[in-house]
Amino acid sequence: MPDLPPSHRPAPPRKPFGNSRTAANRLTGRALQRRNARIALRDGFTCQECGRVTESGEVDHRVPLAKGGTEDDLNCQWLCAEPCHRNKTIRENGGKARLAIGPDGFPVSARIAARKGGHWDR
Ligand SMILES: [Zn+2]
Repeated sequence: MPDLPPSHRPAPPRKPFGNSRTAANRLTGRALQRRNARIALRDGFTCQECGRVTESGEVDHRVPLAKGGTEDDLNCQWLCAEPCHRNKTIRENGGKARLAIGPDGFPVSARIAARKGGHWDR
């Protein structure tokens, strides 16, 4: 078979992102879409943390890839994007989950509401 012209040769394999040890093993493209659909169906579009049924969920890695988790289906779960997946990600990164904001624009938290003389007690 004659050599393909340079413009038609397959691209060389992409280097993983410089600061990540996990990016090379991360699912991408159609494989990722298929996996996400599979997990959503398996979990019945039900958030595995709060139990809400939602189409606007996301596939979460129970053990984050950055902490040695794998792309295996057993390590994946369906979480609602807001607030469960976001808060889990914040917790995994050592932060504090943000409080939900009520319709009055103030955080919904019994502890904060009960606190006297604090920032919210105006
Ligand atoms: Zn949830």
